[in-house]
Order: sequence, then structure tokens, then C-alpha cells
Amino acid sequence: MKNNLNKQILRQRHVPERSCISCREKKTKRELIRIVCRAGVVEIDPKGKEAGRGVYLCPIRECWDTGLKGNRLEYALRTELILENRQALIEYGKSLPRRGES
Ligand SMILES: [Zn+2]
Repeated sequence: MKNNLNKQILRQRHVPERSCISCREKKTKRELIRIVCRAGVVEIDPKGKEAGRGVYLCPIRECWDTGLKGNRLEYALRTELILENRQALIEYGKSLPRRGES
């Protein structure tokens, strides 16, 4: 167990990978969009450098739809998502291409 953990840390140091909370695909941080929770405010973190608990989503409409449905995002961020913040994220998701589109 401890060994596995060490290996994981080493690999992440080499190429930082994160997985999308919707499709669970592993990608590099640059290929995903980070959502951060800071002092109860949940918002997109375009540079991926904000302090706070963060989760990642693919820049694909389907992943945002799935991620914002139900309480998946709240569960991952361990916070309550206020309606205003959820609405802003849904709006952002609408601007994204569907899977397979470019
Ligand atoms: Zn995804």
C-alpha cells in the first residue's frame, strides 16, 4: 500500500495527471478545466492555480452536463453549491463543444 502510494507520487511529479469527475478519464491538467471552491464560492479557475479544493472536468459539454447533474460536483468538492454558482457553471458548459466536435 505504502509502495503504491510512493509510485503514484513519483508519477504525478513527472506528468501531473488529473481525472475528470464525470467520465473519469485521466488527462494532463492542461487538457482539463479546473473548478475551485474558495470560501464557499465555486467557480472556474482558468489558470488552475487558485488555492482551495479543486476538481477537474473535460472541456466537453457532456462532461459538464453529467458533472453538474445531481450532487456530483458538490460531493467532489465537499461543499454546497449555491444556485448562482451552479448556474454560472451550467452557462459555461453550454459554450463548450460536444464530444466529437472540435
Ligand atoms: Zn470528462
